[in-house]
Amino acid sequence: MGNSTEHGEKEIRGLLQSDALYNYVLETSVYPRELEPLKELRDITAQHSEAWMGTAPDAGQFVTMMLKLLNAKNTIEVGVYTGYSLLLTALTIPEDGKITAIDLNREYYDIGLPIIKKAGVEHKIDFIESKALSALDHLLKDKEKEGSFDYAFVDADKGNYWNYHERLMKLLKVGGVVIYDNTLWGGTVAMSCEEEVPEIYKSNWKPILELNKLLAEDPRVQLSHVPLGDGITICRRIY
Ligand code: SAM
Ligand code: CA
Repeated sequence: MGNSTEHGEKEIRGLLQSDALYNYVLETSVYPRELEPLKELRDITAQHSEAWMGTAPDAGQFVTMMLKLLNAKNTIEVGVYTGYSLLLTALTIPEDGKITAIDLNREYYDIGLPIIKKAGVEHKIDFIESKALSALDHLLKDKEKEGSFDYAFVDADKGNYWNYHERLMKLLKVGGVVIYDNTLWGGTVAMSCEEEVPEIYKSNWKPILELNKLLAEDPRVQLSHVPLGDGITICRRIY
């Protein structure tokens, strides 16, 4: 299952103390309640060479809760890969809910698409094959889209998260929520200098540190930084 971090190193425990503790959470609370299509998608994704990119199922379970609490209907997904977080959103929002799903690689989406179709939720998804920045800018050209989204999940190129944030602050309604994934970057955010950071984490270490600082200082959002999966930051637009 090894999808607890963005880089798929051998440990599976995410940011918890031990593999045993992480497995306890998965076996006790997550897997027994994971819907069948999501299990199936996770199994198919596990055979893919970049399976480490899939969203951790414990973080996914939390996102499902958030979507229900928000009553989310109109949502955005930035970074789809094979579609674990996309499918859980599609299964959770109402029958007439919509997801604008953006990824520059349609081939990844096509891996999960048969399962999405079988689950009967494809009609909720508008997949856009594009760089996310230009797709979000395109959405913003339509004035009716401003302030119209309830929720967004951001899990694409980390160096652009702040650029996505600026656009999402216009696209989300006041009270809407955006979740940023991988914001604890395998725990490396607590390292004091770049030399300490393992090679696989070096590329996005500074952008994630900068993002965390900017988000914490952003008066437009209420924020919670949660150590689930590889760290998720929940931002609720307050004006
Ligand atoms: N949320 C997904 C899931 O639950 O499986 C995982 C997303 S994966 C970590 C990151 C995805 O972002 C990849 O599918 C990649 O093609 C996409 N991506 C990377 N840079 C992008 C960009 N600039 N614009 C759009 N998509 C991008
Ligand atoms: Ca991720």
